[in-house]
Amino acid sequence: MTKSIEQILQQDQFTKDDIIRLLQSKNEDEKALFAKSSETKLKYVGRNVHFRGLVEFSNICKKDCLYCGIRASNSAVNRYDIADEEILKAAKFAYENKYGSLVLQSGERSDQKFIDRIEKLLKEIKKVSNNELGITISIGEQTKETYQKWFDAGAHRYLLRIESSNKELYNKIHPKNEDHSHETRLKCLKYLQEIGYQTGTGVMIGIPFQTYDDLANDLLFMQKFDIDMVGMGPFIEHDQTPMYQYKDQLMSLNDRFRLTLKMIAVLRIMMKDINIASATALQAIDPLGREKALRIGANIIMPNITPTTERANYLLYQNKPCIDEGADDCTNCMEARINMADGVIGYGEWGDSQHFRKRQNK
Ligand code: SF4
Repeated sequence: MTKSIEQILQQDQFTKDDIIRLLQSKNEDEKALFAKSSETKLKYVGRNVHFRGLVEFSNICKKDCLYCGIRASNSAVNRYDIADEEILKAAKFAYENKYGSLVLQSGERSDQKFIDRIEKLLKEIKKVSNNELGITISIGEQTKETYQKWFDAGAHRYLLRIESSNKELYNKIHPKNEDHSHETRLKCLKYLQEIGYQTGTGVMIGIPFQTYDDLANDLLFMQKFDIDMVGMGPFIEHDQTPMYQYKDQLMSLNDRFRLTLKMIAVLRIMMKDINIASATALQAIDPLGREKALRIGANIIMPNITPTTERANYLLYQNKPCIDEGADDCTNCMEARINMADGVIGYGEWGDSQHFRKRQNK
């Protein structure tokens, strides 16, 4: 006999079929899913929302992911690399405004000069913040030695999105060469966990060729991998990329948005104590998108504190919001938005993944 959504939601563990049913839920069933995920969030991570001040410090990237607006082959992009002093200013801003944590993100590079620069920057960020600012980095695939070096220099969380747990799908949205290997990505995630980072991953939702089966597998992958933090958002096409040719095969933006909310909700029920980010891409589709994600399961928000002059050049996808606002405007706007979503900002706190703490104490 087919289970009802209510019956599925009473379970503690989901099968792949259960997840697919939840992801396909509509109307009253969808409401029941969101009610359950919202209740789970309040019970296990509470109302606190934690800030991660996001600094997208460079859009120079050696890779060529077929969906990405700043891929190496896109010659229409103005490339930038923010000076270290500017990055440190942003870190100081985050510290003085009690953001608790900073995220350093850029295109992928792995030359020695870059590796040494990041190591130095991490140490300096610790210094200017009296050793208090938590640091997440998101700079792609590196060797285990590099990850270790950056960990020793002060980074303690790393976000490496797997984009899809399905190798075949991954290969369809990346060039076929050694620089874009699914195995390498998985190996890197493992390294991060072994070193002791709070390890984060994520996927894009609504990419061409993706099925509900793929998405359910993505969630099961995160659970099996025992991931500590997740950042996943809707796929938004960029017209200067090869993937744009499939734009007519995509589900509507609104459907990608709803599906992302359902992915967050199901994941919150499956992994009750992890950190889940409310992706900026949600706001690109719905002005209240991030608040909606906070209500149903997310607990992390990443205000953009990149110097405003460069924000318009970090467009992984189009219609990205908040590219003209200064960091101060961003903070005020965030506070109002989070209050609206019934959240409370955990000012000055690292807001570490509780899941990570428990994993460490096992
Ligand atoms: S998705 Fe990341 S690694 Fe891939 S091209 Fe864009 S910035 Fe580079």
